[in-house]
Amino acid sequence: MVTYFRDIWDGLVTVLIGMKVTWRHLFTPAVTIQYPDVKLKLPERARNRLYVNMDDCIGCDQCAMACPVDCITIETIKSTPDVDLGLTSVGTKKRLYVPVFDIDIAKCCYCGLCVYPCPTECIKMTDVYEFSEFDRDNLIYRFATMTPAEADAARAKLAAYDKEQAAKKAAAAAAAAAKAGAASPAPVAPAPPPSPSTPPEQKGEPDATV
Ligand code: SF4
Ligand code: SF4
Repeated sequence: MVTYFRDIWDGLVTVLIGMKVTWRHLFTPAVTIQYPDVKLKLPERARNRLYVNMDDCIGCDQCAMACPVDCITIETIKSTPDVDLGLTSVGTKKRLYVPVFDIDIAKCCYCGLCVYPCPTECIKMTDVYEFSEFDRDNLIYRFATMTPAEADAARAKLAAYDKEQAAKKAAAAAAAAAKAGAASPAPVAPAPPPSPSTPPEQKGEPDATV
């Protein structure tokens, strides 16, 4: 009989303990947010989608070299001396065209290692984190602003300039060689070695004509 009433008591206490937890949570403010209508504020240094300001990129390749997964592809073309590509916003002289600057964000692991070595601070993490795509190719971000035609023109100009410089260098080398030849006296030909003297006639030798 005692056991019967103790079991009833234990059951009541257990239910009350469970209800205490339930009632406590009923008055706790909700922590679930209604994403995407409501979004959490990101931490200040959150790493998300990358962005490159091509106006400031000098094509130094340091970001690509730092990337552990090789997801940055950069191509550059040297400018010729008659072209002024201007300065970056931090005052660095631009000497290279950058016709290709691709980041395959599908491979990116958001390590941020590409951001730190950039001398002009033009590659940075943004606060954009919603960029899912159905087509993987759409995750290759192409930042270069040069058109293919402009890139071809720059390559052709550089090739012509290099050819001209090579011709000038060859002509200068030939002129220097000719000048050096005229300044030094003509080499004297070595005297021929003396011919061996005729051996003296041996006395007492019989005369063949007799
Ligand atoms: S964040 Fe890391 S993985 Fe992504 S591009 Fe930069 S270096 Fe490469
Ligand atoms: S490190 Fe900066 S300046 Fe150099 S190629 Fe990368 S983005 Fe451009």
